Amino acid sequence: MSAITTEQILNALRAVHDPDLHRDIVSLNFVKDVKIAGNDISFTIELTTPACPVKEDLKAQAEKVIRTSFPGVKNVAVTMTASVTQRASVQQAPILTGVKNTIAVASGKGGVGKSTVAVNLAVALAREGANVGLIDCDIYGPSIPLMFNINEKPRLHNQKLVPLEKYGVKVMSIGFLIDSTQAIIWRGPMASGAVKQFLTDVDWGTLDYLVFDLPPGTGDIQLTLVQQIPLSGSVIVTTPQEMSLADARRGMAMFQKVNVPILGVVENMSYFVSANGDRENIFDNGGGKRVAEEFKVPFLGEIPIYTKIRVGGDTGRPIVDSEPTSDPAKIFVTIARNLAAQVSISNVSSQSAPIEISLSSK
Ligand code: ADP
Repeated sequence: MSAITTEQILNALRAVHDPDLHRDIVSLNFVKDVKIAGNDISFTIELTTPACPVKEDLKAQAEKVIRTSFPGVKNVAVTMTASVTQRASVQQAPILTGVKNTIAVASGKGGVGKSTVAVNLAVALAREGANVGLIDCDIYGPSIPLMFNINEKPRLHNQKLVPLEKYGVKVMSIGFLIDSTQAIIWRGPMASGAVKQFLTDVDWGTLDYLVFDLPPGTGDIQLTLVQQIPLSGSVIVTTPQEMSLADARRGMAMFQKVNVPILGVVENMSYFVSANGDRENIFDNGGGKRVAEEFKVPFLGEIPIYTKIRVGGDTGRPIVDSEPTSDPAKIFVTIARNLAAQVSISNVSSQSAPIEISLSSK
């Protein structure tokens, strides 16, 4: 066998396509560190997120392409890494400079499971290997301290608040700073001012994804928040029935009005599976998918009603952490991967210039 060259390897790998970005992994500049040592080949594939839904698939395809193109090769070692992308408008914002992506989780209505979804998605992204933060923007009814079972107060370091960290997620909530039994009677500007301080006076360090659990509704406070946070995009949480969908539509219209991309819709409480395996659509089913189609935005997935999801919220241990192999936890992970993929797609399409095409090898 004549010696294989880096160029031949890169040419072969052009057959592997990223299904979300619709380009091959070489022109996307994903292939790095090609090394050839006799009959052994190794290289790295650097994706745009560690939570890539097709990570394993791309790895297997790349390995197969090399084995078929170069039958004499003995070992093929493919290392998968990620360098998370960023939207230009977020990159240029003068605040949150170490944060690559900011994602608002919103619902038109309270009680649909918005906070539950925000928490489990944040923990799922962290478990996938991303650096993740979560801001509880619900100043009047902060539920994040309970959902993480955090009872400490954040400390000050160099005049900045240090977020509390649990399940791999850096968390900040007004609930950490005030007595939980105290009623907050701030007017709107004070409430959004408090959230703004979480953007400027908290030491977030470097984060791939900062998730904002917005207060429910589409009023003044929500509008002010989505205008003052430099957002990569939003996720709409709804339950399937018409009552909730009407509010979800209002939420989506709000984001469209302020030009924040809608990364997708999550339908929560989609169905219930009884002990004998029967599926019951308590709140109807399919409404989330319908509004996603109406607004031409991605549908990220449906989550069942499951007692342990509720218990996870009440005990401060999200199901994604407590029972990672359960079906509902796997559903959250799939939705988190779909969301991460949509962030990457949206970031790429937000770039005015095409992605740089260069063959990278060492
Ligand atoms: P929101 O943030 O929309 O007001 P929450 O996340 O606080 O809603 O959820 C409301 C209640 O419903 C909580 O007790 C939560 O544990 C529960 N819950 C949310 N989603 C589910 C689910 N899929 N299965 C079971 N309970 C759920």
